[in-house]
Amino acid sequence: MSSEQELEAVIGLEIHVQLSTRTKMFCGCELSFGDRANVHTCPICLAHPGVLPVPNRTAIEYALLIAAALECEVAPRSIFHRKNYFYPDSPKAYQISQYDVPIAGAGRLGDVRIHRAHLEEDAAKMVHVGHHRGRIQGSDDSLVDFNRGGTPLVEIVTEPDLRSGAQVREWGQLLRATIRQLGVSDVNMEEGSLRCDANVSVRPVGSDEFGTKTEMKNMNSFRFIERGIEAEVARQKELIASGGQVVQETLHFDPATGELHSLRSKEEAHDYRYMPEPDLVPVVPTRQMLDAAAAALPELPAERSQRYREELGVSEGAALKLSFDLEWAEFFEGVIAHHPEIEPRAAANWVTGEFAAELRKQGDQALGETVVTPDSLGALVRLVGSKRISHSSAKAVLAEMVADGADPLEVVEERGLEQISDSGELEKIVAQAIDENPAPAEQVRSGNEKAIGALVGAVMKATQGRADGGEVTRLLRRDLGL
Ligand code: ADP
Ligand code: ZN
Ligand code: MG
Repeated sequence: MSSEQELEAVIGLEIHVQLSTRTKMFCGCELSFGDRANVHTCPICLAHPGVLPVPNRTAIEYALLIAAALECEVAPRSIFHRKNYFYPDSPKAYQISQYDVPIAGAGRLGDVRIHRAHLEEDAAKMVHVGHHRGRIQGSDDSLVDFNRGGTPLVEIVTEPDLRSGAQVREWGQLLRATIRQLGVSDVNMEEGSLRCDANVSVRPVGSDEFGTKTEMKNMNSFRFIERGIEAEVARQKELIASGGQVVQETLHFDPATGELHSLRSKEEAHDYRYMPEPDLVPVVPTRQMLDAAAAALPELPAERSQRYREELGVSEGAALKLSFDLEWAEFFEGVIAHHPEIEPRAAANWVTGEFAAELRKQGDQALGETVVTPDSLGALVRLVGSKRISHSSAKAVLAEMVADGADPLEVVEERGLEQISDSGELEKIVAQAIDENPAPAEQVRSGNEKAIGALVGAVMKATQGRADGGEVTRLLRRDLGL
């Protein structure tokens, strides 16, 4: 491959989703996070001799719901396999998973194709404890917490359709929002209920062959995954440009240092010796189960964002923010339901822009904590839309609303914030601003349009922000002969 060729990244994801069923995949132990170690265990998930697994029906229903949301083809009959490996996190020395016939086949979410999604059980959690006292420096011990062992998982595998770290972050957030909305998982990356591995390769732009890939394991945020992918793509591009070759290996990205470390190479890769699980019958979803999954599908983030853009004229950025979080979407819908007279586009911009910023500013409040109701925020947007108050006055009113739930109309009346609607009065103030600021006025007259900003500022100062910016600019341009 010539070093002149431009290279592009090719990325495919494997995402593990812990299902939020009440009990484990093959036994009756409760799921828990953060409980004392090894209290949620039984002979089945500890693999005592002679025990038999019993599949969790709810987990299968949740998997069907995920399959429906990702538009996957559901297998009429899928089976479980044993994936053999020896490690302390698996007392059976195999994981029950699905192999050549997964419950869900080809599907799609947004512009990324899904290769498959299958059901399996999670491994126990290893806790690595370093020791320094009375031991050889650097030696360490590992503890095992079997509470997590046997938690139902759906593993979603994408086709290698992603092309950059940023796209992975955006798409990952869409996937997370979609699954959260289904209510089948907490999708909390820090707690590990959503875990994502990224497979990365590069190839010449325009080529339809794939290069050798590396796999990056388990990062606990999409920001880190984005950075890890960018680092790995840069490394592979440099390697190839300098005549080297990518070696297939598993990597760990350390977000603290920005470094990539090799965990294992292809030579050390596992041979899992998959075999059909003899203790479980095939999964055969009934018509009724399939219909129930289809009927239970709520409006999902991708559709909602499309509806906001296409039917309500909401900007792309605001539509994305609103549709990724049901709470925000419901707040926005509340605003426009109470105020059908306002532009949904303006309402969406206020909700995701100034309002969200003010919540962050005043104690980083969650939407669920605010005293501001959709109705009162809508009233504020209406005051701006009908030009009764200026944008800058509206920001001051919003600050009071967020602070103590103030009624926007009352604040406007008490503080005398009504926009100057008397055009005679505004014309006088504009004329005065030109008189008092001869230098920028002259610059504007001689063609430097940018200098008009200083004059707009002077008018805003004189009116304490109570003038309509558009109208001020119009009058200034007229009076300066533009
Ligand atoms: P493996 O057999 O190594 O597990 P798979 O073919 O099962 O590989 O694919 C695993 C994941 O890696 C999928 O998400 C797939 O899209 C992705 N993938 C496969 N080949 C490549 C490649 N050359 N570059 C990037 N991602 C890839
Ligand atoms: Zn158990
Ligand atoms: Mg694979």
